[in-house]
Amino acid sequence: MDPAQNPSPRPCWSCGAFIDRGDRFCRSCGKGQGGEVPWYYRHWGIVLIALFGLGPFALILVWRSPVLSKNAKLAYTAALLAATAFVGWRVYQAWLFAKSLLVL
Ligand SMILES: [Zn+2]
Repeated sequence: MDPAQNPSPRPCWSCGAFIDRGDRFCRSCGKGQGGEVPWYYRHWGIVLIALFGLGPFALILVWRSPVLSKNAKLAYTAALLAATAFVGWRVYQAWLFAKSLLVL
């Protein structure tokens, strides 16, 4: 990279080691930077994982993501907690209904 174009080093989002501005991967830990951030830290990856995989545990990815802004993280957290509470309530209702069918 041209040093004039990328004058100051910046810290890696993952390990904090200083890397050149133009580096696409950290020289210390190897994590992708900028456009090379792993897919599961991006908006669509987090939504996909929350819906079809981890559910509320996707919050770990939300808060570790270097891509999301603070407000986006808060919005994802609120949405995930609300969805978890709703699903939990529906499961509880289904459990009560199933139990009522079993009692004679
Ligand atoms: Zn690093």
